[in-house]
Amino acid sequence: MAIQSVGIVGAGQMGNGIAHVFAAAGYDVLMTDVSQEALDKAIATITKNFDRQISRGKLAEADKVAALGRISTTLRLADLGQTDLVIEAATEREMVKQAIFEDLVPHLKPETILTSNTSSISITRLASRTDRPEKFMGFHFMNPVPVMQLVELIRGIATDEPTYKALVEVVERLGKTAASAEDFPAFIVNRILMPMINEAVYTLYEGVGSVKSIDQSLKLGANHPMGPLELADFIGLDTCLAIMNVLHEGLADTKYRPCPLLTKYVEAGWLGRKTQRGFYDYRGEVPVPTR
Ligand code: NAD
Repeated sequence: MAIQSVGIVGAGQMGNGIAHVFAAAGYDVLMTDVSQEALDKAIATITKNFDRQISRGKLAEADKVAALGRISTTLRLADLGQTDLVIEAATEREMVKQAIFEDLVPHLKPETILTSNTSSISITRLASRTDRPEKFMGFHFMNPVPVMQLVELIRGIATDEPTYKALVEVVERLGKTAASAEDFPAFIVNRILMPMINEAVYTLYEGVGSVKSIDQSLKLGANHPMGPLELADFIGLDTCLAIMNVLHEGLADTKYRPCPLLTKYVEAGWLGRKTQRGFYDYRGEVPVPTR
C-alpha cells in the first residue's frame, strides 16, 4: 500500500518536528493533541523552523507555503482513522499511549499502519493492545527531527515484513537513514545515551563536578557537540526519567537506577528547555546553571 496520508498524535516537540519533515516530503499530515494550545504552538514552531531553513538557503518560500498547506490539525483523535500511517508521539507514559491506541482502533481503516515514537516502551506490548500487532512498529525519530538523520525502526514480535518494508520506504522518502533495532527496553540509541546522561546527573549529585564542569568536560574532553546535562534539558528531564525507569524495570539491573537528583528536578517541574528551567535556567539572555 502506498502511504500518502499521515496522522500524528501529540503535537509536542517531537510531534511538530515529525509533522514538519513529512509535510516537507510531500505527505498529507493530520495532527492531533489534547490541547488546542499545543496544536497552535506546533504550527507556529513549524513555521519558524521552515523560515530558518529558508534563511539558510535550504528551502524555497514556495515549498514552505506548499508544506504548511499539507498540515491540518484536529482535536478529535478519531479523525486520524482514515490516514494510511499513524505515528503516536504523545507523552512517554505507557498508560497514555495505550489509551490512545485503544480509542483509535475502532476508527481505523483495515490497512492503516500504526507506529509509536516511544523512546523506550515495549513495542510488542503496545502492539498487543491493538487489533493489528502485525501492522505495528516502533518509529523512533531523534530530536530535533528536521535536523537529525537517524530513524530507529523497531519490529515487535508480530510485525510482518510488508509493514517493515513500507516504513523503510517512508524513511527513504524523508531523506533519512533507518537503523533497525530489536524490541528491548530503550532500543539502541537510548540504551546507550540515557545511562550516560543519568551518570552525568550522579556526577553532579555526588559533587564530583558542577553543571558547567560536567558539560565542558564531555564537550572538550570527549568531543561531544553538547554536554550531557545540556542534552538532558533539550530532551526533557521527564522523558529522561521515564526512559531510565523503563530500563531499570525492564532489565531488572540496578546499574540503571535513576539518579534521585533527576527525580527531584522532575518533581519540581523543572523539565528542561520546555519549561524554561532544568539543569540550566533559560529565562534570561543566556542559560545559567541551576547548580
Ligand atoms: P512533549 O511533552 O513535548 O509532547 C507531548 C505532547 O503529547 C503534548 O503536547 C501533550 O499535550 C500531548 N498529549 C498527551 N496526552 C495526549 C493524548 N492522550 N492525546 C494526544 N496528545 C496527547 O514530549 P516529546 O518530547 O514530544 O515526546 C513525545 C514522544 O516522543 C515520547 O514518547 C518521547 O519518548 C518520544 N521521543 C522524545 C524525544 C526527545 O528528545 N524529547 C526523542 C525521541 C522520541
